[in-house]
Amino acid sequence: MSNQVIVAIVGGGPAGLFCAYELLNSGIEGIEVHLYEQTGGVGKKFLVAGNSGLNLTHSEELDKFAKKYFKDEELFSSLLKDFSASDLVSWANSLGTETFVGTSGRIFPKKMKAADILHQWMNTLKSHENFHLHLKHSLKKITPDGDLIFKYDHSDKAQTADYYILAMGGGSWTKTGSNGQWMDYIEALGVTTAPLKAMNCGFEIDWSKHFQEKVDRGFVKNVVVFNETQKARGEIMLTPYGVEGGAVYAISNGLRDELEHTQRAYLHIDFKPDLKLEEVIEKLSNKSKDSLTNRLRKQLGFDKIATSLLYEVLDRTKAQVNIEYLAMTIKDCPIEVKRSRPIEEAISTSGGVCFESLNDDLSAIKNNHYYFVGEMLDFEAPTGGYLLQGCFSTAYRAVKSIKKKEGIDV
Ligand SMILES: Cc1cc2nc3c(=O)[nH]c(=O)nc-3n(C[C@H](O)[C@H](O)[C@H](O)COP(=O)(O)OP(=O)(O)OC[C@H]3O[C@@H](n4cnc5c(N)ncnc54)[C@H](O)[C@@H]3O)c2cc1C
Repeated sequence: MSNQVIVAIVGGGPAGLFCAYELLNSGIEGIEVHLYEQTGGVGKKFLVAGNSGLNLTHSEELDKFAKKYFKDEELFSSLLKDFSASDLVSWANSLGTETFVGTSGRIFPKKMKAADILHQWMNTLKSHENFHLHLKHSLKKITPDGDLIFKYDHSDKAQTADYYILAMGGGSWTKTGSNGQWMDYIEALGVTTAPLKAMNCGFEIDWSKHFQEKVDRGFVKNVVVFNETQKARGEIMLTPYGVEGGAVYAISNGLRDELEHTQRAYLHIDFKPDLKLEEVIEKLSNKSKDSLTNRLRKQLGFDKIATSLLYEVLDRTKAQVNIEYLAMTIKDCPIEVKRSRPIEEAISTSGGVCFESLNDDLSAIKNNHYYFVGEMLDFEAPTGGYLLQGCFSTAYRAVKSIKKKEGIDV
């Protein structure tokens, strides 16, 4: 009788599904893959990600890429060496998804929507008779022996396996199933966790009444935003409650931490990042009888929204007579952010299972039959394809370890 190797995966997001894909194609003899998902369908957050154009990964060089994982740069450098952006693109190609590199270097599927990719992906998994999908099974508890106890149809169901891969996601967009409730019991596996916090999130700002009424979903494009330690280029979306948008998300962890530590944080905006301060001064020095608004428009290309935003901070009387002050505010316009938007709305969350309690192969130091992958790990990265790439690369690492333990050459 041939040996059976049972792997139980919990979580049907991209990280869990990619583990299933890799395991079923691993060549491990007698492999049986059980994937448990608490909602009635898989990949719900992946589908949500697809609504705004599925940004699979990024085309930049490894060194630059790895820096996007902040404190975990070194670890991700090694994870990306194992499973890189081009590996992810090749895998997508194998599912029939052609990709293209956008102007910002981000990589997207050419034609296929997230739903089509997921459909292909699931068809491939289901074509393996040793793949077992258990929908509406919610992991509720881990016994002292390490068995997983699922809630299914009002009763408890236990699963014993040779290896367990936990891929239960972060804590935002709970309607997709990623509710972070595993934080309540996961430490039973001897791992430590950091609290889940909003990442890639918007911020609330006390706008003036006038501005609040005027601005709704207006964009200020091609600016640089910065705080004490971070800087990002992109766009800001203005809302009646505050700011959203790619550039804000990229420095959102810094702003969030500043708020937490000092109860004060400023989003600084450089409206003209391609001009030096002296060049801005020179352009504004052109003596004309135009109003300040017209000078900003004519000399520096400010549109109505950017002008209104600048006026939220600028002392206009002073600016009329002091060009240096005006130029300095254009290059560094500080806007106080009051609080981050609720975690529920965030694109991703920081916090989760800490790498310190894991081996390099992402198994628990205290019990190396349990692996952790995807967004439930305590890493953070900006938008730009880095989140999905992180999920795929961590999933790859866990399966690579299981293959090795089962005697497969990797
Ligand atoms: C609006 C939005 C846009 C995004 N756009 C992009 C993008 O363009 N590019 C990018 O790189 N990233 C993007 N992301 C982020 C990306 O979607 C996530 O990082 C990724 O889905 C995380 O994958 P995961 O498999 O780790 O977790 P998830 O996708 O969150 O999946 C976790 C799964 O585990 C299940 N689960 C949780 N608890 C249990 C339990 N107790 N028992 C059983 N099952 C459980 C959940 O139901 C869920 O299906 C976006 C996210 C959002 C919200």
